[in-house]
Amino acid sequence: MSIPTTQDVPSVSFTELGLIPPLLARLTELEYQQPTPIQAQAIPSVLAGRDLIAGANTGSGKTATFALPLLQKLHAEKSSSSNSTSNKGNYVAGLVLVPTRELAKQVADNIRSYAVHFNGKIKTVAVFGGVSANTQMQALRGGTDILVATPGRLLDLISSNAIKLDRVNTLVLDEADRMLSLGFTDELSALLALTPKKKQILLFSATFPEQVRALTQGLLNDPVEIQVQSVDASTLVQRVFTVNKGEKTAVLAHLIKQHQWRQALIFVNAKNSCEHLANKLSKRGITAEVFHGDKGQGARSRVLNAFKAGEVEVLIATDIAARGLDIEKLPVVINFDLPRSPLDYMHRIGRSGRAGEVGLALSLIDHEDYHHFKVIEKKNKIWLEREQFVGFEVDEVITDAALAADKPMAAPEGSGKKKAKKKRQNTTQMNEDIWSRCSKPE
Ligand code: AMP
Repeated sequence: MSIPTTQDVPSVSFTELGLIPPLLARLTELEYQQPTPIQAQAIPSVLAGRDLIAGANTGSGKTATFALPLLQKLHAEKSSSSNSTSNKGNYVAGLVLVPTRELAKQVADNIRSYAVHFNGKIKTVAVFGGVSANTQMQALRGGTDILVATPGRLLDLISSNAIKLDRVNTLVLDEADRMLSLGFTDELSALLALTPKKKQILLFSATFPEQVRALTQGLLNDPVEIQVQSVDASTLVQRVFTVNKGEKTAVLAHLIKQHQWRQALIFVNAKNSCEHLANKLSKRGITAEVFHGDKGQGARSRVLNAFKAGEVEVLIATDIAARGLDIEKLPVVINFDLPRSPLDYMHRIGRSGRAGEVGLALSLIDHEDYHHFKVIEKKNKIWLEREQFVGFEVDEVITDAALAADKPMAAPEGSGKKKAKKKRQNTTQMNEDIWSRCSKPE
């Protein structure tokens, strides 16, 4: 399967895409001025009933890409009463499968928000693990028009007869690659087998590894194929800073204090590193909250909501926050630890600079990270100038030759700091505009 990349999508309006007035009115209220590239390319085909396979990330506007046509279709079905399938028994019409609890909640909230002008006629329920199934069973009583679910919990609810999938007419597989990498392969196959053969399928995946290809084989019917870029380089500025080993916390604290970002999302690689870094920042007078898989669902939701509301300014997270989370106008993402997978680098930085907002993605690397960062650059086809901070100049200058020989070179006496200063002078002006736009307003 090859997915063509369609660049330079001509700008169209939401009206031209064929959406109906209750949805258009809502988009105006939400101040969506024009469709994002994936919306412009996909919505007309999805409205026409075509299957879709899209290479797109959160941040591209993909939720509206499937949610708006889905709502429009269900609204039409409900309006023609003879055809109405909704709210009879424990069935679902539009099923959206997602990999994580947070995404399930977020997607369901988005769908409800897009549907406000349908005056409660379209019911949307979210089900996911980590919380009591009873409330979800109650919510599913009488069926639902749209169900947003994580695969494991959905199978549990099916086995308790709380819901049936035999009336599903639209199936959305959101973040398919992530679902498969989280080990949902068997669950997905089991769920697919419970849905009718004839249905519209919309599949979204940031990447298309073998597992996703295997899943799609024989599943989709002549799909429209679309690929959009996940990171918009014109609004998201990426910078990488070389620091001495052992100085990352000091540099991070310096950055946070200097820039007073409204919010900063900091990525580390392990759950205990979250707590560890939060403690170290606290000793430097910075309060940070942590977000990782060992925290209970209630605590995770509370922290995330507080961060989204701007009540928590610094959030330290593992990669469970790298995918899918939509944090409006997040000004900065910082890689304190580099992600192991180059792909996760793109997912992490994609939390900022979303939907046309400006954003910053900063990575702190010491000489042990140097080689890995080169791999990340190569895989993602980016190249970033190595920068340094005044007052935190590195002791070792790492050249490509030294890297090839797998060892840093000692800086010539005195020249490292001078070079660093010169480099700093060259780079401080770079993207200064975006730095200041991302900082806290006075
Ligand atoms: P998503 O990729 O679906 O997670 O969307 C990312 C963010 O973009 C969400 O906050 C959406 O509300 C927002 N968004 C989606 N489509 C548009 C649009 N056409 N114009 C402005 N914002 C949008």
